[in-house]
Amino acid sequence: MKIIQVPLLRDNYAYLLICDKSKEAAIIDPSEAEPVLKRADQEKIILTAILNTHHHRDHTGGNEGILAHHKLDVYGHKSDSARIFGLTRGVEEGDEIKIGDVTGKVLFVPGHTSGHVAYLFGSNVFCGDTLFTAGCGRLFEGTPEQMHGSLKKLLALPDDTKVYCGHEYTESNLRFAVTLEPKNHKLASRFERVQGLRARGASTVPATLEEEKQTNPFLRWDSKELQATLKSQDPDLRLDPVSVFAKVRQLKDSF
Ligand code: ZN
Ligand code: FE
Repeated sequence: MKIIQVPLLRDNYAYLLICDKSKEAAIIDPSEAEPVLKRADQEKIILTAILNTHHHRDHTGGNEGILAHHKLDVYGHKSDSARIFGLTRGVEEGDEIKIGDVTGKVLFVPGHTSGHVAYLFGSNVFCGDTLFTAGCGRLFEGTPEQMHGSLKKLLALPDDTKVYCGHEYTESNLRFAVTLEPKNHKLASRFERVQGLRARGASTVPATLEEEKQTNPFLRWDSKELQATLKSQDPDLRLDPVSVFAKVRQLKDSF
């Protein structure tokens, strides 16, 4: 399996997931058609599917233009048939997807939207706007409980899982993260490394799940330092995981 990252719009990432053997390929979250089709052309692959993580235009905007040239299956959560252009394969938790000889699995991860899914292929998870590198998506159509549950589901994957998210937001996410855990050394060194990469226009995606566990404030509801920072701003805050997560989300919304 080969994965190609295609930068689109201002800070979006689409991905090509290619079966080495058959050269069949899926496009994950195409916000635009042209650049993805051009890249696919260069690779000499056979496009068979579009996988959409959720209905937002910056993840599905390319569907129509791609389908004008190729007859493809379009995967997305079954509840989003009216919101994802061209959807032919409504999926839900646990469903399997085959791209050539490569098999993937659907994880239902609502919170950012009500029909958000992630696609797990081997040790690679395509998680759209649910889990970002060093961050998480806004709660447009879900509750903190739901998003917390979705993030916990992703956290249960092995540490070496690579997180392929929908946006290049790592640097700004880390700028926020260091305000909550100023003494977290792994966080500080990640911030430094990411600033260096961004200064020369390099991608910071994917990251490993292990790195996310160590430095992503939206996954660190158990961190004593993070809890203490939140408590100092809101003495009445309860320290159960959902309340801590919700507080971090609330602070980030106005950061
Ligand atoms: Zn979104
Ligand atoms: Fe997005």
